[in-house]
Amino acid sequence: MATNRTLTMIKPDAVRNGHIGAILEQINAAGFKIVAMKYTKLSTEKAGEFYAVHRERPFYGELVEFMSSGPIVAAILEKDNAVEDFRTLIGATNPADAAPGTIRAKYATSIGENAVHGSDSDENAAIEGSFHFAGTEVFA
Ligand code: ADP
Repeated sequence: MATNRTLTMIKPDAVRNGHIGAILEQINAAGFKIVAMKYTKLSTEKAGEFYAVHRERPFYGELVEFMSSGPIVAAILEKDNAVEDFRTLIGATNPADAAPGTIRAKYATSIGENAVHGSDSDENAAIEGSFHFAGTEVFA
């Protein structure tokens, strides 16, 4: 995957709270092009695999349970400087620290249930994109 891409998930809390449409609109308005997208649900095994890097953290079990608690929207987004610009758009991990107007400031309810995921590096964007999508599901 090229370095102008990032992987997002609209997390189960934001889906449950009816924010899919508003979040996708904000993503589009910020200049990101959706090149892959699916509405899906992670099993506990798949959620554990996605967040394996956090397996030693105290919140890992809670995170895996939350991320497999309901459907999500996964998408690959394309834009110049996608990873960094998307992290700016979503705001800090803890919504209490997220800049006003960011997606997490508007839609997250807690540091754990924080509405959206955004890849933290080009390398992870490529790994996470492949985790969710086959090559035939990506439309540049
Ligand atoms: P980010 O998603 O902003 O890159 P991290 O990679 O640090 O943040 O953490 C991954 C996810 O784990 C967060 O988005 C959040 O859902 C959850 N998380 C992080 N820190 C905590 C915490 N202290 N308590 C509960 N859940 C957390």
